[in-house]
Amino acid sequence: MGKIAIGCDIGGTNLRGALIREDGHIIKRQSILSEADKGIDFVVKNLANLIQQTIKGDDIAGVGIGIPGIIDSSKGILTQAPNINNVNNYPLRDVLIEKIGESVPVFIENDANCVAIGEWWVGAGKDVKSLIILTLGTGVGGGIILNGDLWNGADGMAGEIGHITIYPDGAKCNCGNFGCLESYASAGAIRRMVKQGLETDLETIIREKVKNTSKERIPEIVREAAMQEDKFALWIWDEFGKALGIAIANLVNLLNVEMVVIGGGLANAWELFIDRAKKEAKKRGLRAPIKRVKIVKSVLGDDAGILGAGYLVFKEEGII
Ligand SMILES: [Zn+2]
Repeated sequence: MGKIAIGCDIGGTNLRGALIREDGHIIKRQSILSEADKGIDFVVKNLANLIQQTIKGDDIAGVGIGIPGIIDSSKGILTQAPNINNVNNYPLRDVLIEKIGESVPVFIENDANCVAIGEWWVGAGKDVKSLIILTLGTGVGGGIILNGDLWNGADGMAGEIGHITIYPDGAKCNCGNFGCLESYASAGAIRRMVKQGLETDLETIIREKVKNTSKERIPEIVREAAMQEDKFALWIWDEFGKALGIAIANLVNLLNVEMVVIGGGLANAWELFIDRAKKEAKKRGLRAPIKRVKIVKSVLGDDAGILGAGYLVFKEEGII
């Protein structure tokens, strides 16, 4: 029997872990609450429990962990994590090894980078050597695979595609800048567009639907309204697709990758934005690279990150 790795994904709400074979097959899953709001020490305690529950008697090659934030993967340090309290240059790998023991190697990587690796290893990009992933959710994540390797960048910060400028004088972004992709193609962007639209007197069925609802539901309401041909909702997805297409053209002109994979929760509104995105990308992309590139939906969904984290173990340990 081949080797087995544990792949973990640290989310704001849940910690997910899986036992992964070296052919990319998931043989067991576990999920527990992350308690990220209580701070990093709680998250690590829960992560150690999850790993111990998942291992139970299996011979493990190592643990790979995908986590949202800025990572120094060579030192195993979590530099910053926007969704977890009390993180400032936190030595995640060392603290975890103290809890689970030194016999299990631990590897840490940014979560969107893990998604990129997962999709390249056994997902949409399994037959290509270069791809870019965009994860469209609360924000916009990104990861870049070149020649079968993750491109981390000199500071481990490559692939922050959400913060490339689309409109220089555009809407304010969480990063402090203006007109970033994340301000036009994320759940936060959709909420902003809804709020601004409803401040005018335009007619839309969204106006009634968003009353007494949580802000998390708003993108889904806008998706449903667009399916019912609501003009304002269709306009929002058009803006979303246009910004995405501009970003894709820039990325493809720069890197000439074979594939762009789009994942994250908002990929479920695929048919509402993808035609506009492809049209815009085609308009702005240079002829040969834009003709070559395949723009596709993620096939692994939520599993991409844990699979990518598992792959890191096999690669770093020289198993594959
Ligand atoms: Zn930004």
